[in-house]
Amino acid sequence: MAKLYFNYSSMNAGKSTVLLQASYNYVERGMNTLLLIAAIDDRAGRGRIASRIGLSAEADIFTDATDLHSHVAHAMQRAPVHAVFVDEAQFLTENQVWQLAKVADDFGIPVMCFGLRTDFQGKLFPGSAALLALADALKEIKTICWCGRKATMVARLDLNGQIVEEGEQVVIGGEETYVSLCRRHWTRRQLATSSGAQAHRSEPGPAV
Ligand SMILES: [Zn+2]
Repeated sequence: MAKLYFNYSSMNAGKSTVLLQASYNYVERGMNTLLLIAAIDDRAGRGRIASRIGLSAEADIFTDATDLHSHVAHAMQRAPVHAVFVDEAQFLTENQVWQLAKVADDFGIPVMCFGLRTDFQGKLFPGSAALLALADALKEIKTICWCGRKATMVARLDLNGQIVEEGEQVVIGGEETYVSLCRRHWTRRQLATSSGAQAHRSEPGPAV
């Protein structure tokens, strides 16, 4: 039975790297994968899943309006699809998560979703909430806080490196950066040790 998977993490845990490696494992065996990535604006057409260590692959872009069940069905008319991979899955709508569940159930195709669990205020993204509710299998991709503990939270930083408390869940085209912290240091708003060691700073992120 094909399953719907949700691989979740905080920022900079290497989600896209894991996704691309898993897709490659299929391709290496002569199978076809369908890669999808959420649009962070109104772009349409082809997108790209890129990892911080340099791997990348072309992907189809989806918006809130994309019917993902139909999208996969159309792709299957062109060529067999052996697995579906979704990056930035936190931006799925609840309906789209149901559509992906139907892809697994109706077509027998495993669907692997990768995304952030929570936003910079510690709240679930809509896509993540639906995936946590509906996925057959949940897996955490782990990364660490500057202190060495597992980082489960994401903080948004402004241009001055200060933690932002308020704002939209998704910022498009902003200058924010993001850093992953353990819950203790996220709660204390502590980005580094008191001795002055700097926290690892992330690249500018599209949206958290
Ligand atoms: Zn910490």
